[in-house]
Amino acid sequence: MFLAHFGMAFAAKRIEPKINLGTCILASQFIDLIWPVFVLLGWESVSPLAEKMGMNVLKFDSYPLSHSLVGTLFWSFLVSGVFYGITREKRPSVILFFLTLSHWFLDLLVHEPDLPLWDDNSMKVGLLLWRSVSITLFLEFTIFFVGVWLFLTRKVKLSKGSFISFVILIVFLLAIYATSIFGSVPPAGTQSAMLAGPALLMWLFVLWGRYIKP
Ligand SMILES: [Zn+2]
Repeated sequence: MFLAHFGMAFAAKRIEPKINLGTCILASQFIDLIWPVFVLLGWESVSPLAEKMGMNVLKFDSYPLSHSLVGTLFWSFLVSGVFYGITREKRPSVILFFLTLSHWFLDLLVHEPDLPLWDDNSMKVGLLLWRSVSITLFLEFTIFFVGVWLFLTRKVKLSKGSFISFVILIVFLLAIYATSIFGSVPPAGTQSAMLAGPALLMWLFVLWGRYIKP
């Protein structure tokens, strides 16, 4: 999933104003942020599907470190624990834990059964909704726009600069998502690093979020 994870970040900001939006994005996208790093290190791998299956063009051959249930629990504790270590804020730390964990459960809805519970030999799960373009779009847009709505209807007023920055972010995310709707399968044999490398740009959204205040 893509947009839905951002929707969760916007919703979390509404629920817990003390967390910076950049940190919310960091948490909700955390396992997708570390995934390209692990692929570039050769620890995880991905390949192109033979043909597009609904919304999906990639075959996630192996990603237990970033995308297993146990792995995601570990990252959730880490994100939340580091935040608690720095801020000593209990409630925001708990919310960050669940926000990081939410990524796995949203992915569970749409992925092929490729999400391991533990390692590559453990059971792999996925409810396959990606195969239906209409259901995927419904889920992505609903969660995304509910998040946007929750974020924009907060009691605090965004500064003019932050509001404009937020609107540009939304348009930008929708544009990126549109390219994936109409995108096609990468050529057979494309290396893992070429497929996952561009995902490193996702880190820019964490930075972008940092400057949207309050
Ligand atoms: Zn993911």
